[in-house]
Amino acid sequence: MRLTVLGTGCPIPDPQRTQSGYLLEKSGKLMLIDCGSGVLAQLARLGVDWEHLDTFLITHHHLDHLSDLLPLFTARWLMGFPRATVYGPAGTQEFISQMMAPFSYVKDHVSLQVQEIKAGAVHSIAGFEVSAFTMRHFVTSLAYKFDRTLVICGDSEPLPELREFVQDCKLVLHECSLPNGYQAPGHTTPTALGQALAGAKIDWLLLTHFYPEAATRIPEMLDAVRKHFHGRVSAATELQSIEL
Ligand SMILES: [Zn+2]
Ligand SMILES: [Zn+2]
Repeated sequence: MRLTVLGTGCPIPDPQRTQSGYLLEKSGKLMLIDCGSGVLAQLARLGVDWEHLDTFLITHHHLDHLSDLLPLFTARWLMGFPRATVYGPAGTQEFISQMMAPFSYVKDHVSLQVQEIKAGAVHSIAGFEVSAFTMRHFVTSLAYKFDRTLVICGDSEPLPELREFVQDCKLVLHECSLPNGYQAPGHTTPTALGQALAGAKIDWLLLTHFYPEAATRIPEMLDAVRKHFHGRVSAATELQSIEL
């Protein structure tokens, strides 16, 4: 599979970053995990066949993870592709239908299937084996595991319980919103992340979801994680592409 990072940012605007979005490709099939503001433009920049992208996973119902979903559905419909399937945590069906309600010109033309994902269950989605784990955030936030290889975590405080879910995966994408020293309720700072994942059996921990305060402090944040987590650690970059 190939992972392309479309956005490494957060709700606060940053000239260097897009909000959350991760594209997965396997055997010609595409799947998008989260779709924050700017992701639609990133898909165009990437030159990917976004009209055929019809499978969407949402980690949680915060705007920086889904605000470009409706513009993307609209663009796909206008290009002749009205069908899509959206997966997300409990409440996604109601959330999406309320989000679309004011835009009848879109709602009446887009054909959406929505499936809610429960932690613990295993799903077959677009050729991937997908399972989910509940993170700890202000709203229900899921981590998704793909083919027992890749985990993409929704926003969260760092959780030691995540170690078991990610065990033996090649790559784990986890938020690290702010440098040490900042209060980050519901989110993650580097030392706390390193401590939570100390000893986790994974090859590579990739950090994302950075606030502007992190801009000049990435090296120091990576060092802080590495003090406790001894695998490979790096900071995700915009349009970074990784073959797994
Ligand atoms: Zn977020
Ligand atoms: Zn959030």
